[in-house]
Amino acid sequence: MRQLPGSYILNKFYTYAGAPAYNKFTSTYYASCPICREGKSFLKKKRLYYYPTSNTFYCFNCSRSWHAQAWIEAVSGMSREEIEAEVLSGDTSFDITDNLKYSNKIKKKTLSSLPLDSINLSDPLQKQYYGTNVYFQKALEYITERRLDTAVNKSSSYYISLTDHFHKNRLCVPYYDGDKKIVFYQTRSLDGTEPRYLNKVGYDKTVFGIDRIDSSLDYLFLFEGPMDAMFVKNGVSVAGLILTGEQEKQLIEFPFHEKIWVLDNPRFDEAAKENIFKLISNKQKVFKWPIDKPYKDFNEWCVKEKLDQIDYKFILQNLYS
Ligand SMILES: [Zn+2]
Repeated sequence: MRQLPGSYILNKFYTYAGAPAYNKFTSTYYASCPICREGKSFLKKKRLYYYPTSNTFYCFNCSRSWHAQAWIEAVSGMSREEIEAEVLSGDTSFDITDNLKYSNKIKKKTLSSLPLDSINLSDPLQKQYYGTNVYFQKALEYITERRLDTAVNKSSSYYISLTDHFHKNRLCVPYYDGDKKIVFYQTRSLDGTEPRYLNKVGYDKTVFGIDRIDSSLDYLFLFEGPMDAMFVKNGVSVAGLILTGEQEKQLIEFPFHEKIWVLDNPRFDEAAKENIFKLISNKQKVFKWPIDKPYKDFNEWCVKEKLDQIDYKFILQNLYS
């Protein structure tokens, strides 16, 4: 395949590496290595370097080097074909250098738990006030269409910011911790602009849904996306096969729950196919999509069949053996 565009590589670096930063004197980018997690120093030390002139990565902690392509495959779980398709789809317009500078600036200024000036979409007063804003309306429509307001394991709130540098005009799904405090969030594009999903900038991902785990139920269902995890009791989202340090800390609190992975339907998703194979090889329990469920994920399944819940027992009855 041809060389990956620099902006695309930076976009991935910025998405997956820990607390990325730029050194303008050496023109290199550096961050915490998401692969070795810097031993126990993730987000404390930054020993992963990205050299744009050679398109290579090097980590001074685990002493590994990667070509950009290999690094992106390792951290994103995407296949070569998917990366190529994403590049071809033009998903490279996100101006990362500008955003990196900006994120360093805002991080120093605020430690806000939500995007700037976030509006609570379920607050009737806000609805009165912002009801005519087109993005506010789109967000409400999206929530209804995707059944995010009726799902069995739905989030207790959704937000939108009309001003945030990265996250404005996007639906914001908050991630609560065990004490019901918002510690992370993901926003979703409402008008088709890229990136489709964007995580809180510069922070370690946490587990979505950890605040709603019913400890009397012996299972935890690990989904990729929060909007799929909402449709199963004890569904949580970890986004990716590599757990972050924060996520590991959170899941360790549930040592007796059996963990079952529920990935997107491999019939429609090459990356899911490869990831399912990896999980099975690692002796993990994984949901096996039945042939008569022609949906790409749990959200689509529930939207198409007008359901607010997939019974967790259905997952248990359909595991790879
Ligand atoms: Zn490393």
